[in-house]
Amino acid sequence: MTAETLSFQAEVSKLLHIVTHSLYSEKEIFLRELISNASDACDRLRYLAITKPELTADDPAFKVTVTVDAKAKTLSVADNGIGMNRDDMVENLGTIARSGSGAFLEQLTGDADKDISLIGQFGVGFYSAFMVADKVEVASRKAGEDQAWRWVSDGGGDFSIEEAERPARGTTVQMTLRKDAAEFLELDRLRQIVTTYSNHIALPIEIVDLGKEGDAEPETINQASAIWTRPKSEITAEQYTEFYRHVGHGFDEPWLTLHSKAEGKIEYTMLLFVPSAKPFDLFSPERKHGVKLYVKRVFITDDCEGLVPSYMRFLRGVVDSEDLPLNVSRELLQNNLLVQKIRTAVVKRVLGELEKKAEKQLEEFATFWENFGAVLKEGIYEDTEMRDRLLKLARFRSSGQDGLTSLGEYVERMKEGQDAVYYITGPDSDSLARSPQLEGFKAKGVEVLLLADPVDDFWLGVVHEFDGKPLKSVTRGGADLDTVKSDDKEDDAEKPEDSAELSVLIAAFKQTLEDQVKDVRLSKRLTDSPVCLVADDGDMDMHLERLLRAHKQLDSAAKRILEINPKHALIAALGKLAKEKGIKGDVEDAARLLLDQARIIEGEALPDPGAFSRRMADFMAKGLPAA
Ligand code: ADP
Ligand code: MG
Repeated sequence: MTAETLSFQAEVSKLLHIVTHSLYSEKEIFLRELISNASDACDRLRYLAITKPELTADDPAFKVTVTVDAKAKTLSVADNGIGMNRDDMVENLGTIARSGSGAFLEQLTGDADKDISLIGQFGVGFYSAFMVADKVEVASRKAGEDQAWRWVSDGGGDFSIEEAERPARGTTVQMTLRKDAAEFLELDRLRQIVTTYSNHIALPIEIVDLGKEGDAEPETINQASAIWTRPKSEITAEQYTEFYRHVGHGFDEPWLTLHSKAEGKIEYTMLLFVPSAKPFDLFSPERKHGVKLYVKRVFITDDCEGLVPSYMRFLRGVVDSEDLPLNVSRELLQNNLLVQKIRTAVVKRVLGELEKKAEKQLEEFATFWENFGAVLKEGIYEDTEMRDRLLKLARFRSSGQDGLTSLGEYVERMKEGQDAVYYITGPDSDSLARSPQLEGFKAKGVEVLLLADPVDDFWLGVVHEFDGKPLKSVTRGGADLDTVKSDDKEDDAEKPEDSAELSVLIAAFKQTLEDQVKDVRLSKRLTDSPVCLVADDGDMDMHLERLLRAHKQLDSAAKRILEINPKHALIAALGKLAKEKGIKGDVEDAARLLLDQARIIEGEALPDPGAFSRRMADFMAKGLPAA
């Protein structure tokens, strides 16, 4: 049979172009990727062989062999793992099917500088072989099948596949090295790299040098014991980091490494990591957590939903159980009681470590929070049992402080007479800080938490107080700041407004805007802006309502209350005008204009932008000397 030529998925070609032309200086990581794939392939077969022992009967000892042939300028990485057949090769070595890869590939711009940093986060896996090779040849035979296949590509737009010979199951990736990659033919260099990238791997990695005189003796390079089974004291920080990069597909350092063994009623070992950088697909819907489940050192699955709650989906690492049966089916795991117990233990351990960091290493904790706080906060909503601990851990921006604050610290700073924890929610904390609804609070020195993650609106739906203090939105209901003592004495001595004029004005606004707002009233929360919108006490918070409408989970909108600022010169002037000249004409136009302004500040769409701009132009014209 002749070779069949197939094209790479367009995105892979794009990726390969970047990989071959400009990729990072650390070319050596291709070996980590290939060894990592070889070890994954062995793990997968080991799992299958639990129920089908015949698959490995002829060759039960898993291993990875790195072979160097300096004369031929080739380097190969071979394993006796699960192998690939033709369809597997087309699927796995022609496309990128990893979770979140869609989102990642869309972000590729074609501009090498920008793309390289993205790729650094994503990892190019198998394709990294093309950083060092002109030509990559993959020969593979799937466990349980007789036919072997050869996949060949020079990293251009296509690859070929043909039938091949391979005496036993497994995969060999052979690279013909580029001139500038000759260092990877040197044995010392190889030894050093393979040691770094494989010491944590649970199967033997050998190096064979074909250039040696006489018989090429394989030399085993690593300890070949699963890193999590070794005592902590024998594991270096570098080894932990390497293992993290292997299991977590990370390129960064772990922010937190948690290695512990539970003995007693249930027995398991966990080696978990929190990354120090935020993965690009943290919020993509198909994103899974990155914790692998092992049973007695045998890899079972990296897709056990029950093992880690989704609000801890930033975790990477392994949990190895001594109690689960080896032949537990992946389906049965979903509702397994033991898994649930391990999950509770994992959650408690992780929270415990986070609490320590939050208390002792404020800056480090802040970095964590910037990366993963929005995810952890999902737990406040989902996990009633851990809610209080999560609330205490949570950090927020505040109108009164730079940096992050906890609810506990907020409560300690509350003003005399202040009886609630105030917050505002919206799309970003900087614009929230400029919201008109905050003005009165600022003037009285009352802090307002600026909550800018979409999840905030949801947990606020289930948490109504902290430390006995109600949580109150500053954009809903009345703003009762009268009880709060002001810092500034003069502020309390307000100059009296003309209440008769204001009553006429309010009546005029109400009449004009009757079908657009629920009510018009004097504001206690405004000091600088003329108007703002707020939700009525019993209604949904405005930002949540907008979020739900945007996600089509709500199709009606409650009417707002328009608050007007009696201290604002414009409002005072309009009051006077309304009393003297009645409401038709300018007062009516002003009412509509001001409502639209309040909508704009809220980030809401104007029902009739044309009318708004005409009224605005008319008003501006009146304020200028006639031409
Ligand atoms: P990842 O390892 O993150 O899935 P890679 O690009 O490294 O991504 O590999 C792509 C896929 O190719 C793997 O998921 C696997 O299905 C397949 N693969 C790669 N190397 C091997 C191998 N040595 N044995 C079997 N399958 C392999
Ligand atoms: Mg891989």
